[in-house]
Amino acid sequence: MTNIFETLESQVRSYCRAFPAVFRKAVGATLYDESGRRYIDFFAGAGALNYGHNHPFIKRRILEYLQGDGIIHALDLYTTAKREFLESLESIILRPRGLDYKVQFPGPTGTNAVEAAMKLARKVTGRHGIVAFTNGYHGMTAGSLAATGNAYHRRAGSSLLNGVSFLPYDGYFGPEVDTFDYLRRFTEDSSSGLDKPAAVLLETIQGEGGVNVASFHWLKRVETLCREHQILLIVDDIQAGCGRTGTFFSFQPADITPDIVTLSKSIGAYGLPLSIVLLKPELDCWEPGEHNGTFRGNNLAFVAAAEALRLYWRDHTFRLAIGHKAHLLRRRLTAIARQWESFGISVRGRGLFAGLAFEDHPTAARLISQEAFHRGLILETCGAKDQVLKFLPPLIIEENLLEEGLDIVAQCTRQVLAGGTDASIAEEEIQQTNS
Ligand code: PMP
Repeated sequence: MTNIFETLESQVRSYCRAFPAVFRKAVGATLYDESGRRYIDFFAGAGALNYGHNHPFIKRRILEYLQGDGIIHALDLYTTAKREFLESLESIILRPRGLDYKVQFPGPTGTNAVEAAMKLARKVTGRHGIVAFTNGYHGMTAGSLAATGNAYHRRAGSSLLNGVSFLPYDGYFGPEVDTFDYLRRFTEDSSSGLDKPAAVLLETIQGEGGVNVASFHWLKRVETLCREHQILLIVDDIQAGCGRTGTFFSFQPADITPDIVTLSKSIGAYGLPLSIVLLKPELDCWEPGEHNGTFRGNNLAFVAAAEALRLYWRDHTFRLAIGHKAHLLRRRLTAIARQWESFGISVRGRGLFAGLAFEDHPTAARLISQEAFHRGLILETCGAKDQVLKFLPPLIIEENLLEEGLDIVAQCTRQVLAGGTDASIAEEEIQQTNS
C-alpha cells in the first residue's frame, strides 16, 4: 500500500515514517486513512492547522472565492484578497494590541520568513552576526539553518552555515543557572569574541527543540538588553504564534514588542502556505524588489486567513476557550507525570503547546508515540533526542476528543513504562477518569 512512496519518494521523507498510514481525508481534529480508520490529531500539521482540518466556514469562503474565479496567483500585485487580509490583520490583530508593524510577504514557508528577517536585520544595522539559542529551530535553508541548533539538521548544510553565534536558551543549564547573564556578559564584554550582532533571534517556546519555555522575565530582559545596545530583536512566532499559546502572539504576556516577527504555519488558516514578516516601520529599508520571489502572498491563503481572523480573533471568546482546554491538557499531563514520578517525567509548555519530557528515559517518548499511532492518535516527538512528546492539538478540538486522545496517551505511557496489559491499562484509565 505504501510501495510507491517507498520506492519513488526520496529517503528524506520523515513524518510518514512515524505515521505510516495513507491518509485520505481529514475534518477538524481527526484524520482518516484510506481504509476509513480514524486518527485523533494531536500534531495539527506541526502547528499549521490551529483551526483544524477543512474548517467548514473557512472552506465555504475558499469555495466561494474559487467559484467566482478569484485570482490565485498574482506575484505581489494588489488584489482584493490581499487588501482584505491586510485590513483584517490591521484592524483585528495589530491595532487592538497597539502594534505598529509593516507587513512583508516573503516566500510561502516559514524558513522564507526567517531568511527575510535575518537579511533585513543585517541590512538595517550593517552588521553581520545574529545571536540564536541552543535548541532553536528556524528552518532548513542556509540562513535559517545557520540559526538552528540541531546537529542532525546542520550536518548536510555545514559549509553554508555562518554568521550565527549560539548562546544558552533560558533553562539550558537547569533552573539554577540564569542564562541571561551569559547573553549580557557576552554582549557587553568587548573581549568575549562576540562581535556586536545585528539581531537576537529567538522562539518564546522552542517547538522542535523540546517545548522549552522561556520565562517572561528572561524575555523582558533580553528585550531591554537589545534596546540598550541597538540590537534588533526578532521573535520567530512561526510555531508558537496564531493562538497556540492562548494569545495571538506568544510574546504578548511577556510584554515585549519585537522589532521583527515571523509568522507562518497557521496564519494561512487552512493549511495553505503563507508567511509574513512584521517589521517596525522604521526598519523598512528594502528597495523595491530587493527581496523578490514568484510565490509571495498566496491569494487563496489570504482569503482563508482573513476569514479565520474574523471568525476567531474579534473578541476574547476564542482565547478563553483555548485557556480552558489548555488547563484540561495541563491537568491530565501533570497527572500522568505524577503517576510515573519515579521516571522523572516533566510537563512543559503554555496554552495548547505542551510537552511531556522523558529526559531520563529518552526512548520512551518515541515508543509512546508509536503505540499511540497504533491506537489511533497522531502525537509527535521533539527535542534533541526525541525525548519529548509534543502536544499540538488543533485549537478548535472538541473537549471530548482532547480527553479521548489523552486517555490514549495515559494508556500508552503505562504500556511503555510498565509493560502493562490491556486489562490493567483499562483499569488505570477508569481510575484516572474517576480521580
Ligand atoms: N521557525 C519555527 C519556530 C518553526 O517551528 C519552523 C517549522 N517547524 C520553522 C521556522 C520553519 O518553517 P517551515 O518548515 O515552514 O520552513
